[in-house]
Amino acid sequence: MKKIISLENLVNDPGCLSEYDPNAMTIEVARKYIHNFLKVNLETEFVNTEDALDRILGETIISKINVPNYNNSAMDGFAFNLDSLIEKNTLKVATTILAGDLSKQKIKPGFAAQIMTGSKIPDGTDTVLPFELVKQENDSIVVNEIPKKGVNIRRLGEDIKKNGEVLKKGVFLRPAEIGLIASIGISRVKVFKKLKVSFFSTGDEVVKAGQPIKSGQVYDSNHFTIQSMLRRINVECVDLGIIPDDKKLIEKTFKNAAKISDAIITTGGVSVGKADYMKDILKKLGKVLFWKLSIKPGRPMAYGAFEKTPYFGLPGNPVAAMITFYQLVQPALKYLMGHDGYKLPTLLKAKCAAPITKRPGRMEFQRGFYNSRNGELSVKPTPHQGSGILSSMSKANCLIVLDMDQESIKVDDYVNIQLMEGLV
Ligand code: AMP
Ligand code: MG
Repeated sequence: MKKIISLENLVNDPGCLSEYDPNAMTIEVARKYIHNFLKVNLETEFVNTEDALDRILGETIISKINVPNYNNSAMDGFAFNLDSLIEKNTLKVATTILAGDLSKQKIKPGFAAQIMTGSKIPDGTDTVLPFELVKQENDSIVVNEIPKKGVNIRRLGEDIKKNGEVLKKGVFLRPAEIGLIASIGISRVKVFKKLKVSFFSTGDEVVKAGQPIKSGQVYDSNHFTIQSMLRRINVECVDLGIIPDDKKLIEKTFKNAAKISDAIITTGGVSVGKADYMKDILKKLGKVLFWKLSIKPGRPMAYGAFEKTPYFGLPGNPVAAMITFYQLVQPALKYLMGHDGYKLPTLLKAKCAAPITKRPGRMEFQRGFYNSRNGELSVKPTPHQGSGILSSMSKANCLIVLDMDQESIKVDDYVNIQLMEGLV
């Protein structure tokens, strides 16, 4: 029988599962455990359709109308009855119908209506030919090649059928979906409420931008990257500031964060340094797992729950914080916000334009720069790959994703890359 493991179980007895090794956790296993212990708890709200961009649909949408809701012309041209054309290749032009003309007209056999794109197909006609394919003579048209019956007509309901499903609950709303919702006349749409995520950085050495800095201190870039990454996925970020390496203060901040947010993210203090207090504090207050991920950058990471609020403790090194956010936290938050079927960007194959140094043992996310030439992708790693070199993230337009067992790579070997577009 499959053993159901609770977070509590695993925290108290990390050795209870064979695949679970907190000292060498693969990214796949980490993702799985993160996902297993998340509980989606979503409320919905109504927003104007135009304000629903980048939100997640909170209801399945059924159309009350057909789109198009009338047969209409796909061309500027002439509408006529094909059978009457077969009898005689000349038709008399009876009238002109513009788009938006709602009058009910009937075209008799032997006649044609001049018609514009989007105009209602008049009764008595079944086929449209564009201007270019007919010869106009005085008030008549001559058609030399008989078309197929029904061509150039956009049919009632060919895009969306009345009572048909348009979009499913959990869909991420892009410009196309916003337009689609508007196309069936809906001006207010039910979406999931935005996720509220608290963030604080820790470290005595960490200083806020805008303040003077002393030798031995570092500006708090994580605050800005984390906040920006959250904003990109439309999460509301609650800024709890920089908390020094002080157990009491960190504890107090955690308690506050758990009360006011749907998830908590911190950076720093999760490795084994002298002032890395997270472990002590969270052992007492939360149910938290401490992992040594077998990825580079981003080895130390904490995951668990503080009371009922999920917690992600990311490494302090700026590149490691970003990589663990994208690879582990972003998919988790997407799941929590109700986004159905979120996937990280697909890996693409690229040819290496420069050698890459790698030792087997850890999966690596090297920062790379790709180019596309004659339909083929090539990639080069950025010069500095240290987990503190934030400029490498800025210079990169992709991540070079190297498997655990991979060794150094020669020029012209193929590697997997993950484009930043779509990720960030
Ligand atoms: P830690 O994970 O606390 O051991 O920190 C690892 C490294 O990341 C140290 O060099 C820190 O100074 C640096 N660091 C920690 N927090 C931040 C931050 N918020 N912004 C920039 N660098 C940081
Ligand atoms: Mg620290």
